[in-house]
Amino acid sequence: MDWLLIVALIVGGVGLVLWLRASKIRRETALPRGRVVYADTGSWNRCTRPLFSDRYRLTGKPDYLVCTPEGLIPVEVKSGQAPVRPHQAHVLQLAAYCLLVEDQETRRPPYGMIKYDDRAFEVDYTPALRTELLTTLGAMRRHLYADDVNRSHHEPARCQGCGYRERCDRRLV
Ligand code: SF4
Repeated sequence: MDWLLIVALIVGGVGLVLWLRASKIRRETALPRGRVVYADTGSWNRCTRPLFSDRYRLTGKPDYLVCTPEGLIPVEVKSGQAPVRPHQAHVLQLAAYCLLVEDQETRRPPYGMIKYDDRAFEVDYTPALRTELLTTLGAMRRHLYADDVNRSHHEPARCQGCGYRERCDRRLV
């Protein structure tokens, strides 16, 4: 068989496998249309370096980054059924990824996505959300040096899975 034909078949086969894998990921995660340029899950690890911002002293790894005509869109995948609206902690986590993308790419992502088992939410990265995130980060940093801080939630399940539960006198379970 002609070598060129063999090479073309191999390249075509690899391309098909990559396309099928990308399609599978897109189906399972409801990713926005665009090129997946980063994934932090399973075997689709094309890049494992976290996003990092010196200016905001922040680092993090979204589950996916998708390159779309609107910019780089972070996607966070959460297990479990979708709540009526995304949990505020998840929204702030996604906002942190938007801030990291904004700082790294010098282009603000218009939105990010939170994907639960049965539903995905587009969360607008608004100036108000950005401000809320920066305020929260400031408060968290101040609390790092405080002798004691209040519990920030009323969710027993979070305490159940918390590594500090044995030593925490504010635990709910
Ligand atoms: S055990 Fe304490 S530190 Fe852990 S989640 Fe509950 S309140 Fe927070």
